[in-house]
Amino acid sequence: MLTSIAGRSVIVTGASKGIGKGIARVFASKGAKVLVVARDLKAAQAAADQIKSAGGQATPCAADVTSQADMERMAAMAVDKHGGIDVLCANAGIFPAAKLKDMTAEQWDEVLNTNLKGTFLAVKACLPAMKKKGRGRIVITSSITGPITGSPGWSHYAASKAGQLGFMRTAAIELAPHNITVNAVMPGNIKTEGLDGLGPDYLKKMSDSVPQKRLGSVEDIAYSALFFASDEAAYITGQTLVIDGGQVLPESLTALEEMDS
Ligand code: NAP
Repeated sequence: MLTSIAGRSVIVTGASKGIGKGIARVFASKGAKVLVVARDLKAAQAAADQIKSAGGQATPCAADVTSQADMERMAAMAVDKHGGIDVLCANAGIFPAAKLKDMTAEQWDEVLNTNLKGTFLAVKACLPAMKKKGRGRIVITSSITGPITGSPGWSHYAASKAGQLGFMRTAAIELAPHNITVNAVMPGNIKTEGLDGLGPDYLKKMSDSVPQKRLGSVEDIAYSALFFASDEAAYITGQTLVIDGGQVLPESLTALEEMDS
């Protein structure tokens, strides 16, 4: 099962840390050639080195998803170093908190430019190489925040993550004739470096609100992305998969409190 990833060229944006790093590591462990993309070259290099020391294939790439020129350079690098593009994991994203009363137009633009426009630019840049191969897999990292839930301080983030799904559904139709699928993973609260700044009390409250009573791991997301990226998932497009330990299920605090102990 899912052996089709071996030898494939995979681009992961936002792969120097967190979920993207986990996706890159898991795909490389299955034999993929992974382009590890982040703005900070040193961090991308360090993540690629870790993959290589574990016996995998990885190339670092410093690129900003908000820049069309960078995304085109990223795609060209994957073609040049790894022989084409089979899979794009459009994962890079930011989540700086700001409540509506304090949020500036610049903060709104930064989040939408990175999370939503960045997804579009990464996808657009990879299309010529995927069309040339006659197949492709695009896996977008969305979130439960926006498409399903809300969270004070993250209205811009929620809009960007819901927007990714609207983009995905139309892209999936446009790209279906090219044998390119577009799907999205929707993580709940995943333990990454990006959450470290929120502090231990906040993280404890977050895990308490999950029926499985733990935050997700980056591997929990990576294996779902791996499924969407596989040949076995060829007939699935425009779909989402929630990976959240049951976080969106309880209809009330009582529902959480009355779980079996
Ligand atoms: P993270 O630990 O903060 O890592 C973010 C990664 O994205 C880093 O590699 C960062 O590297 C890169 N990045 C940020 N801005 C970029 C840009 N403009 N261009 C290229 N790379 C950029 O974040 P994470 O928690 O793993 O989140 C990754 C994705 O999962 C995001 O899309 C996020 O919305 C989504 N998500 C996360 C959670 C969660 O609980 N952690 C839940 C739901 C969804 P540089 O800074 O060097 O560029």
